[in-house]
Amino acid sequence: MADEITSADLDAWLRRSAAELSAHADELTALDSAIGDADHGTNMARGFKAVLDKLDAAPAGDAPTVQALLKSVGMTLISKVGGASGSLYGTLFLDMGKAAPASTSISGADFAAVVAAGVAGVVGRGHAVVGDKTMIDALEPAVAALTDAAASGASAAEAAQAAADAVTIGRDSTVPLVARKGRASYLGERSAGHLDPGAASSAILVQALADTLAGDAAGEGGDAA
Ligand code: ADP
Ligand code: MG
Repeated sequence: MADEITSADLDAWLRRSAAELSAHADELTALDSAIGDADHGTNMARGFKAVLDKLDAAPAGDAPTVQALLKSVGMTLISKVGGASGSLYGTLFLDMGKAAPASTSISGADFAAVVAAGVAGVVGRGHAVVGDKTMIDALEPAVAALTDAAASGASAAEAAQAAADAVTIGRDSTVPLVARKGRASYLGERSAGHLDPGAASSAILVQALADTLAGDAAGEGGDAA
């Protein structure tokens, strides 16, 4: 991958994620009302609103390092979001931050490794594996696609698009599954036939990354002409 992902790209990704999660909050909550306690949309929208507020409060013109930015998101989500998803998404970003460099940009391949570290953190905390009907069903294939694309020399935007394609398939794979982790597992067989809310919110985050980097690539293409 020739191009780098900058802190400004990640800032734009987080802002787009916050907007998308807010726009889809009712949908995520409806998914959670079918197999959980009807708070996932509210949880995610509240958490990312707090992330937005923190981004806005940061001093202008002083780009944070990738490490500092991701860690700060993780800490915000852990402190502002209740429920399983607060600590799981908090861990995702915190562990991404721990694996990220103290610089303001990162190569696509290194970013794939950073995301992989974050997802490993979620697994370490929640002990879910693919097939348990959780966000891991969406995130694991997304990381695999991101890593493969980055290793084969795709641009950051192309790699993110590959991850977005994979995350959609992973999200949809949760529908027939019986939940083995989280609140939905209390329903047993009755959890089958529903999309997992956390897999749906993960898909929103990965799609937002692809859309953000695609916008970037279009801009750069114009400049380079
Ligand atoms: P809560 O279940 O506490 O109400 P949310 O509704 O915000 O929290 O989030 C529910 C989502 O969290 C689920 O749809 C699932 O994707 C995810 N989740 C729950 N438990 C786990 C776990 N152990 N590992 C990974 N993801 C999990
Ligand atoms: Mg819930």
